[in-house]
Amino acid sequence: MNELKTMALEGGAPSKPRFLQLIFVDINGVPKGMEIPINRYDDAIEDGISFDGSSIPGFQGIEDSDLLFKADPSTYAEVPWEGIARVYGYVYKDGKPYVADSRGVLRDALRVLEKEGFRAYIGPEPEFYLFKKNGTWELQLPDGGGYFDLVALDRARDVRREIALYMPYLGLTPEVLHHEVGKAQHEIDFRYDEALKTADNIVSFKYVVKAVAEMRGLHATFMPKPLYGFPGNGMHLHISLWREGENAFIGEKGLSDTALHFIGGILRHAKALTAVTNPTINSYKRLVPGYEAPVYISWGYRNRSTLIRVPAFWGNGARIEYRCPDPSANPYLAFAAILMAGLDGIKKKIEPEAYVETNVYDMGEQERERFGIETLPGSLGEALKAMRRDSVIREALGGAYGNFVAYKEAEWKAYTEYLESKGLPEDTKEVTEWELERYLHV
Ligand code: GLN
Ligand code: MG
Ligand code: MG
Ligand code: MG
Repeated sequence: MNELKTMALEGGAPSKPRFLQLIFVDINGVPKGMEIPINRYDDAIEDGISFDGSSIPGFQGIEDSDLLFKADPSTYAEVPWEGIARVYGYVYKDGKPYVADSRGVLRDALRVLEKEGFRAYIGPEPEFYLFKKNGTWELQLPDGGGYFDLVALDRARDVRREIALYMPYLGLTPEVLHHEVGKAQHEIDFRYDEALKTADNIVSFKYVVKAVAEMRGLHATFMPKPLYGFPGNGMHLHISLWREGENAFIGEKGLSDTALHFIGGILRHAKALTAVTNPTINSYKRLVPGYEAPVYISWGYRNRSTLIRVPAFWGNGARIEYRCPDPSANPYLAFAAILMAGLDGIKKKIEPEAYVETNVYDMGEQERERFGIETLPGSLGEALKAMRRDSVIREALGGAYGNFVAYKEAEWKAYTEYLESKGLPEDTKEVTEWELERYLHV
């Protein structure tokens, strides 16, 4: 048995960590950080640790990049297989919260929600592929299983279990592990929590999956669509709002008005939202018919062909499932945008349209029009256009909006230039080498 696995089973390494990793995320949601000797932990909480933010994607330019990291001690965890501890925190500039600090953006959005009396709970369903590493971009699948396959076809079951054994060290509670539809595609769901905690948990989860895969000589990718013609990696989000300790989505006969208006808000802002919940070029290769990924802006009960599904469980489990997000999203920014879209619906009492009981993919264009069903953006470029027109989503990102949009515009421009150089059409759904190079590590 692998040494780390033994450790995880036996309850952790005996020695105390001597280094502390200070973690924040860049504009893409990718964790970045520095390490300090553990005896400086108090400094990191009280005075903060200064750093140069100039080379962090989506942060400041070199002419003005003095930033400060302050640890949030509620997130402290020990990582026994690394022999270190790690903590998340907030970034400051000139004594004030730093605009491009995603965690700070979500904290601010949650304050707005709290002023209206709500707390948000979110549970994610992240999907990922495991590839064999061979030093090229050629992707080799280590197993040939499909949805819910067990044993013989599921050669990575051990890897999944090992990931689940490590998760609790970082404060995550694994709930369901299973093989996904794609060959070598997997899903591990963990327990829902308050929005900020869940966003931290998603960052931690991706880290654990990648670390365990690497120890096994595999490469884990959360890239939304690593292989053309295979299912993509989604990250469905189960969302509920609570008020005074009670689930505000429960109505007398099903969903409450609060829930319906929340759905209305999300549907109204859905196009602009995709820029944040599906923020990479590759995200739009996933949002195509045929792979259980959403394409049409609609909602329904139990219906997995819709953008929003209301699961058939009532009582305190009342919630909505938003099926658009993928794991390349920055979870802090994505949650802020989703929650502010939903809150806009509640405040303006937006009735949700585009309700469907049948499979939306089987509908023709005219039928969809009759139901008021619109289509999600087909590319990052389209989504960014929608975002520029949507003040609710722009404001949800607060001061980070400018940094986010500048970064994403540049990404879109670089990609369109690449397509042009290859003579490929702008709407190609093929997965290009440009994307693999850029996103295989997400
Ligand atoms: N992989 C699908 C997606 O892209 C989801 C499949 C499922 O969980 N039913 O969203
Ligand atoms: Mg699932
Ligand atoms: Mg799934
Ligand atoms: Mg789901």
